[in-house]
Amino acid sequence: MKPWSEALDEPALRKRMVDEQLRARGVSDERVLAALEGVPRSAFVLPEDRARAHEDGPLAIGLGQTISQPYIVGFMSAALELTGSERVLEVGTGCGYQTAVLAWLAREVHSIELVPELHRRAVATLSALGLANVHLRQGDGHRGWPEAAPFDAILVGAAPERVPQALVEQLAPGGRLVLPVGSPERDQELLRVRLTPAGPLEERLLPVRFVPMRGRPAGLE
Ligand code: SAH
Repeated sequence: MKPWSEALDEPALRKRMVDEQLRARGVSDERVLAALEGVPRSAFVLPEDRARAHEDGPLAIGLGQTISQPYIVGFMSAALELTGSERVLEVGTGCGYQTAVLAWLAREVHSIELVPELHRRAVATLSALGLANVHLRQGDGHRGWPEAAPFDAILVGAAPERVPQALVEQLAPGGRLVLPVGSPERDQELLRVRLTPAGPLEERLLPVRFVPMRGRPAGLE
C-alpha cells in the first residue's frame, strides 16, 4: 500500500497551489515559485490537517498559532528580493515552513521563536528535512540576533505595534525588512523597510492580518 503522501500526490497539489494561489495573483519571482513548489508544506501542519495543507488560507498549528497562507508566504518571500547569496533573519519560526522556504532562497537563515514548544517542533521538522543552512533559537525576536547581524533580509511573521528598532539596526546596507505592523484589533499593514544610504525607507505593501508579536511590552522598543 502506498503511504498517504503518495496517495495525495503532493507534488501535483503543490504545483496547483503555486499556479492558482501565487502565479495567478501576481507573485512572479520564479525562485520563490520554485521554492513553494519544492518545500513539502504538509510536513509542517498538524498530522490531522495533512489533507488540507495546500488550502488557500492559514491553518492552526496548535498553541494558538498558525501556518501562514501560501500566498502570504510567497508574497513576503518575494518582497525580500532574494537572489541566493543572502544571510536572512526570521522572527517567529512557528512551524518552520517559511523558514524552509527562506532556506531554499538564501544562503543562510537564522530564525527565532518565542514559544519553546514550537521552537522544539521546528527543530525536529527542519532537521528531518536535512536543511543544513538553518540556525534556530528560542527567544524574543524583538531584540533580533545581534551576534549574527548584519542581515541582508529580515522577515517577521507576527505583528508588532511598531517597527522594532533593533531589527532595523541589524540590517546590512541595502537590506530589506518585511513585517506586518499594527494592533490585533486595528488593520495591520505589511511594510518593507529598506536601508538606503539616506537611511531607512518605508513602503506599504499590503493590508494583512497576523498574530500579534508578543514578549516585550509595547512601547518599550
Ligand atoms: N512563519 C510561520 C508563521 C508564524 S506565526 C509560517 O511558516 O507560517 C508567528 C509566530 O511568531 C508564532 O509561532 C509566535 O509564537 C511567534 N512569535 C510571536 N511573538 C514573537 C517574538 N516576540 N519573538 C519570536 N517569535 C514570536
